[in-house]
Amino acid sequence: MTLSECLKRISDLPDLDKRIIVKEVCNLSDADLIIHKDREITDSECKTILSYAEKRRTGTPLAYILGHWGFRYNTFITPEGVLVPRPDTEVLVESVLKCSFSKSSIRILDMCAGSGCIGISCALELAEKYPQMNIELHLSDLSPVAFDCFSKNAKMLIHSSRIKVFTHKGNLFEVFENTDCKFDLIVTNPPYIPSSVIPTLDKAVQCEPILALDGGESGLEFIEREIEDIPCHLTEDGIVFMEIGYDQGLAVSALFKASGFENTEIIKDYGGNDRVVKASYK
Ligand code: GLN
Repeated sequence: MTLSECLKRISDLPDLDKRIIVKEVCNLSDADLIIHKDREITDSECKTILSYAEKRRTGTPLAYILGHWGFRYNTFITPEGVLVPRPDTEVLVESVLKCSFSKSSIRILDMCAGSGCIGISCALELAEKYPQMNIELHLSDLSPVAFDCFSKNAKMLIHSSRIKVFTHKGNLFEVFENTDCKFDLIVTNPPYIPSSVIPTLDKAVQCEPILALDGGESGLEFIEREIEDIPCHLTEDGIVFMEIGYDQGLAVSALFKASGFENTEIIKDYGGNDRVVKASYK
């Protein structure tokens, strides 16, 4: 069977999905896809393409079907059970990179790390921006699947001796409760969707772990608990970057203010929606 014949059998899928599936299974580049449309593909390649397409039709996100997904400059493994890295979340990392850090060594915490895409990207990109900087990266999540996933991603992507990685399994700041471990940078994408909104979300999002999405009745339950504990674990000149829902900017900034953070800033995503709150004491 030729590639174009196989593509006809999945013609009901959106073009982008089709291209991503075929490129992955047949190990082709974008250019190959155009040039080699009449290329013969093997029966096993065709079978895999059809089975991936079937999974896609039932709503499974491509990131779970392929087992990996791109975020910033890297590809992260993304098994079912961790949140799929989003382009909007890249804004958080971009905002971190816009800050200037003057210390020669910084300690970063990615709380609710999921795949680890935020913390790992921040550590890698900061290490590149500051060639003398030593980084301690802590990744933490309650979910065992997330713990396994970010541990693997960190091992796979971090090779610099200037970045030391520490992984934790636990609920919010629980694992740091009896330590005097303070962070210079806290990055976090906590679950923030109100419980009642979850059933109305896209089919693909419904496949993602509820634990990573559900922010309780108000959507702010995790965020509130997290912000309450942050002051015990942030250095005096530390900065927090928290991903939020499009309508939570003011509420979350107010929570930070109530916790003593004088400086708060709401940052928009590429779609023009409020997406990140940046907070610091001064
Ligand atoms: N930090 C991960 C991400 O942004 C996971 C977030 C979560 O599980 N709530 O993709």
